[in-house]
Amino acid sequence: MNFDPTLVNNIVLIGTAFAGAFLATLWLSLIIWTFRDIRRRSRDPFARILVVLIVAVLFLPGLLIYAILRPAKTLEEEYQQTLEEEALLQTIEDIPLCPGCTRKVQTGWVVCPSCQTKLKKRCSHCEELLELSWNICPFCTTEVPGMPVEKDENEYGSSLPSFEEYLDPIANTMENEEDNIT
Ligand SMILES: [Zn+2]
Ligand SMILES: [Zn+2]
Repeated sequence: MNFDPTLVNNIVLIGTAFAGAFLATLWLSLIIWTFRDIRRRSRDPFARILVVLIVAVLFLPGLLIYAILRPAKTLEEEYQQTLEEEALLQTIEDIPLCPGCTRKVQTGWVVCPSCQTKLKKRCSHCEELLELSWNICPFCTTEVPGMPVEKDENEYGSSLPSFEEYLDPIANTMENEEDNIT
């Protein structure tokens, strides 16, 4: 049971060297991993440097602190979430509302079921649903009257004689009567 002291020393030395090399590699790997991870989670250069410094100085406890405090979502996940939220907002904005009572209406509806406001009109030729403001059917190019209210007003206005026109017949008859007298 006689150990050569130099052999023992050498074994201890080699063991320590291996352990030291392993720890140094681990330390470097953790710093690289932390840097990559914080780069995906934060745009702030100050936060990036701070985090890498904490892990470099405190080593494993530093990594533990970082794991607890790091932002929960990566920048990519945040971006995806923003996209989804915007898409959701877009669909909400796209839902048509009744101009009369602002109730949500469906695209195929002709009349609002709540307040009976006219929402669409049908093409007289192809029966497709058209917006009230359209003057021509985009499906069959049939000309359709624009806003029905405006059209009615115009027709009503043109069919009604003006005040002078209304007075004219009387003037004419009076002239005729004067002619008859003289
Ligand atoms: Zn309505
Ligand atoms: Zn049509």
